[in-house]
Amino acid sequence: MKRIAILGSTGSVGTQTLEVIAAFPDRYSAHSLTARSRIDLLEEQCARFGPRMVAIRDAECAERARHTAELARGGSGQSGPSIHTGEEGLIEAVTHPDVDLVISALPGSAGLVPTLRAIEAGKTIALANKEILVMAGEIVMESARRNGVDILPVDSEHCAVHQCLAGQDPDRIQRVVLTASGGPFRDSDPAALSRMTSEDALNHPTWNMGQKVTIDSATLMNKGFEVIEAHWLFGLPVSKIDVVIHPQSIIHSMVEMVDGSLLAQMGPTDMRIPIQYALSYPERLESPWPRFDITRNWSLTLDPPDEAMFPCLGLAYESIRRGSTVPAVLSTADEMAVEAFLGQRIGFTDIPRIIADAMDRHLAGTDLTAPVTLESIMAADRWTRSFCEEKLIAG
Ligand code: MG
Repeated sequence: MKRIAILGSTGSVGTQTLEVIAAFPDRYSAHSLTARSRIDLLEEQCARFGPRMVAIRDAECAERARHTAELARGGSGQSGPSIHTGEEGLIEAVTHPDVDLVISALPGSAGLVPTLRAIEAGKTIALANKEILVMAGEIVMESARRNGVDILPVDSEHCAVHQCLAGQDPDRIQRVVLTASGGPFRDSDPAALSRMTSEDALNHPTWNMGQKVTIDSATLMNKGFEVIEAHWLFGLPVSKIDVVIHPQSIIHSMVEMVDGSLLAQMGPTDMRIPIQYALSYPERLESPWPRFDITRNWSLTLDPPDEAMFPCLGLAYESIRRGSTVPAVLSTADEMAVEAFLGQRIGFTDIPRIIADAMDRHLAGTDLTAPVTLESIMAADRWTRSFCEEKLIAG
């Protein structure tokens, strides 16, 4: 029995992880559930999965949950989960000695410190939050190596690459090719992009995901983050990581070997498959999810991305070439810009503009040769938040 802690159990990956746990009740149990503020859903999850620990980041929401948990305990006579709050609470939930594996699925920078603490506690990490590697890839991978911890990718593209590389000599990789659906604006008139609303952008053609990652897919920043994620996970320079637009999302990614062979992993667009892969690795379990029939009449198209229309992809490559705290600025500026776009404070094409401005300003005032530490990353995160907030207020 693997006991699982979920950072972000009420989000898209979190709820789908619980579906996988429910499908294999004699193999997996939900030991710790954590959320930011969606208490109603968290309570439903507690009633169904009976976790031992619950952690809630938002203190006010935690008070409400504590109250209802007391009621539930009094009513049934059973002991409910222990309830923890704030970042400290998240850390307690993922580092508990009984936890075997942590699903890291809190979006943005919130998951960084709890995930690092889980690595230090020797927990296997199933990584769904790509911002953690974008912001602090060097620190995270170095800590994983030092603590002998496996980082298993839950992102479908990296799960695909992980599968293609099984049994391969990493020195014989020519390049990795990540596929992108291209998002809902792939075929839009570039002149119409600035008028696109969050409603248009949330209408993702193939994958069912959270709001942040869906907007990031529409700007191609998601793919930019994934290039950086692949760089750290597989130890490859970004010059060996390419992106192709593949609107059908049937090929989840490819690896070209030095002999010219191109290995691809394909399958349904169902996040429960990469989640299950990470939970069961290195085993494979027969799954109940819908299958994909490749013998039907499918056509697969592959096209280069339009980097002029979607500048976020180029910004991501630029950030990792600069290194240091620049990718952290990219990630936080994107988080702020996407939130402002969802709140209808800015337009779609303002997203890359704000990120580029934050990167330029940061580059002008930062010594890129100084060693990168968790403190310098958190300072860059705070600086970017205030820079973007000022910019958003100024318009
Ligand atoms: Mg992905």
